[in-house]
Amino acid sequence: MPIIEVTNLAKQYPQPDNKTEHFFAVDGVSLQIEQGEIFGILGPNGAGKTTTLEMLEGLIDIDGGSAIINGIDVSSNPRQVKEIIGVQLQANEYFDKVSLQELLALFGALYRRTINPLALLEKVQLREKAREKPANLSGGQKQRFSIASALVNDPKVLFLDEPTTGLDPQAKRNLWNLVRGLNSAGMTIVLTTHNMEEAEELCDRLAIMDKGKIIAEGSPQELILQHAPEPPEAPLHGDLEDVFLVLTGHGLRE
Ligand code: ADP
Repeated sequence: MPIIEVTNLAKQYPQPDNKTEHFFAVDGVSLQIEQGEIFGILGPNGAGKTTTLEMLEGLIDIDGGSAIINGIDVSSNPRQVKEIIGVQLQANEYFDKVSLQELLALFGALYRRTINPLALLEKVQLREKAREKPANLSGGQKQRFSIASALVNDPKVLFLDEPTTGLDPQAKRNLWNLVRGLNSAGMTIVLTTHNMEEAEELCDRLAIMDKGKIIAEGSPQELILQHAPEPPEAPLHGDLEDVFLVLTGHGLRE
């Protein structure tokens, strides 16, 4: 049985230019994510990736359809779901007077758990920064710390919203290694990205999302073989950028 089962999920928001009209930011999304997968939702800005994730996380109401995580219905039991998921907060949401070590202890307390902050910091390679304040971390370190803070409740499923946006290549690779390490210890990981390389390198399976809908799903290799046209001269298939172009008629970054 999949650990995440999403059926016809929908969310409406007011039209930016006419608030009396609504549009579907998420328009009937169905997904099955297996335990132990790294699953990516790939799409351009505005596709509905964050809105989908926020519904799965119980952060915003579900307008239509359902999401079941580890057998728990997110709409009817949002608190129970929060016990078993990890949600990455953006680093600028932290109190800035408190050290990394103290912050993690605080987050653990929110879950009524006694945690070992130093062991968690070790896991994300920030052990030596235990006494630093979040403001003094580099971009990559902040992202790794935000993952540590999402791990305080030892989640079964970790949600990451564009985890490497804005990171330099080295910091990006460090973060991918961290995600792979967590995954190989059994954690299911669901992430959003508009980065082709990230989707291809990191994800076992992908859903390609555009204008609120899933338009294709499969492993990166399957998607490339099925959808990317053969380049005229080279013997190899194209890449995920080509898959996106063929399916939507436009590029990922417009
Ligand atoms: P993505 O994460 O793929 O960039 P989002 O899920 O953030 O896309 O947004 C999908 C659409 O919903 C966009 O058109 C965005 O402007 C709109 N949207 C997102 N959040 C809100 C909100 N709180 N109120 C109104 N519109 C929103």
